[in-house]
Amino acid sequence: MTIDLQGFTNLFYYLHGTFVEHAPRLNRLDAAIGDGDHGDTMLRGFRAAARTVHLGGFAHIGELFEAAANTLAEETGGAIGPLMAAFFGEGGLVFSGMHAAGLTEVVSFLGQGLEAVQQVGGAKPGDKTLLDALHPAVEVLSRGEIDDLQAALQAAVSAAQTGAQHTGDLQAKMGRARFVGERGLGHPDPGAVSFTLILEALLAIAQGKAVQPPDLDPVAEKLTPKPAGKFLNDPGEMISEDNCGLALAYPGLVRLTDTGLLVRAQPKPMGRVGLAIGHGGGHTPSMGGFVGPGLLDADVYGPLFTCASGLKIARAIEQAEQGGGVVLLVSNHAGDVLNARLAVRRAEQLGIPVVMAFSSDDVATAPRLAFSERRGLGGLLFMLKVGGGAAEGGLALTAVADLMQRANERTATLGVASQAPRHPVSGEKLFDLPAGQIEVGTGVHGEVGVYRGELMPAKNLVEMMLAKLIPDLDAFLQDRVWVFLNGSGGTSQMELHILYRNVHQALTGQGLQVASGVVGSFFTTLEMGGFSLSLCALDEESAAWWDAPASSPAFRWPLA
Ligand code: ADP
Ligand code: MG
Repeated sequence: MTIDLQGFTNLFYYLHGTFVEHAPRLNRLDAAIGDGDHGDTMLRGFRAAARTVHLGGFAHIGELFEAAANTLAEETGGAIGPLMAAFFGEGGLVFSGMHAAGLTEVVSFLGQGLEAVQQVGGAKPGDKTLLDALHPAVEVLSRGEIDDLQAALQAAVSAAQTGAQHTGDLQAKMGRARFVGERGLGHPDPGAVSFTLILEALLAIAQGKAVQPPDLDPVAEKLTPKPAGKFLNDPGEMISEDNCGLALAYPGLVRLTDTGLLVRAQPKPMGRVGLAIGHGGGHTPSMGGFVGPGLLDADVYGPLFTCASGLKIARAIEQAEQGGGVVLLVSNHAGDVLNARLAVRRAEQLGIPVVMAFSSDDVATAPRLAFSERRGLGGLLFMLKVGGGAAEGGLALTAVADLMQRANERTATLGVASQAPRHPVSGEKLFDLPAGQIEVGTGVHGEVGVYRGELMPAKNLVEMMLAKLIPDLDAFLQDRVWVFLNGSGGTSQMELHILYRNVHQALTGQGLQVASGVVGSFFTTLEMGGFSLSLCALDEESAAWWDAPASSPAFRWPLA
């Protein structure tokens, strides 16, 4: 019993159908412990992969897997994208030159795929990730007790199903779900469920299930955005239309390339260090609104809330390179980090020196001692502004990156949500927050936060937040503090000013001088109600770069 080239082509068609069927359920699982996009992300990846294999012309099975893996890397995004690309990429190696694969080859593909996922993702079994489905499946297979392909895959599927089910009993140690802690108990891991579905598809193909090429006509993807009442054209194009509009509105500052990157209209002088970033869409005006002198050189966005693929980020790095090397800003979220690793690997292969600078400022997600494990929030502004100034000023790559890491270490942020935004197409609320309640410690994608309680007067809320933020900066705070009050998209500038007044008064009351204050909605989550408050205790050298001029569509410095 073997699977031939047509069989594996059918596998990708079958997987497309699988994720059409299961995307809504996977989104719901991810909404409980992550950010609700997992089903859409899998479907986007496998729709693109099905299109790729449909083109045909593969000399052997290895070529088919390699092409599918490249498409998955390019199109999927999220944390899961680079992991799936790594997994299916192993098929490219194992099946190289083959026209049919039997039990031995399929077992080595799955075994090597497991290794690749562990290497790229750095997770272990028990961390509540897809490994908790894949690892037991591979374990059953590698015992070598079953010598029939169908029976062996059946056993692997059962092991994966059990493993995926048990992830409900686990507390996540990896990915976005890590931040919900015990509240994730009772909810299975969406990635583990997806990998079980992938093994089920492989079994179906081994059993010879009849499969038709799916309808991959892009028109079929279009949904009417009526439920959310948004002004859109093609929902699938909403993020690129957003960025295109930005480039058209600020032609003197930003240019949109053919490959969908936002770059400076006038590149910085040769030899200077470049700054690049890759991220998910839906946080307008970031990050394209920060492209310009004294800030970013290149920006690449992914689909809604889903990080751009590593390959696209590598292209942004290429654009940012002016001969001085590039700092890649990475907001500490699983998808951003994994895609950034892939991007750095690719850029280094092209001979570009790259240093990653991680933004990890959300005090709600890890203690001070483990600040580098914190999630990245609005505090990114301080790193970006300081690093952008220093890069423009001619500092060398490692010096720029060091200043940025120092700014990150000296920043503390706390977010509050008062109202869930709606998905712009389905109209569904991204998380559940009863009216009159607020959630403190919420993330930029509306992941579940760490505290929920009654809405309180602005003054009291600010006091509660400062009581967490100021002690966190104890080691750095002297007499001056830099403040950034960021609106989440659905909170009025009026409210932000009211809050800022309370922040300013409270800090002054504690003997802290506000060196600079920035108030506005820069890092948004659609129309989410809420804000984040960031404090930064810059050192003297960094403060000078903070003061340097900057100019971009969303942010100009000095403000006056
Ligand atoms: P994102 O978290 O970027 O929104 P998805 O929602 O598409 O990405 O995927 C989430 C899934 O990715 C999780 O359920 C988990 O199984 C998997 N995952 C996340 N990080 C890792 C990792 N480091 N190693 C293995 N799997 C991971
Ligand atoms: Mg997700």
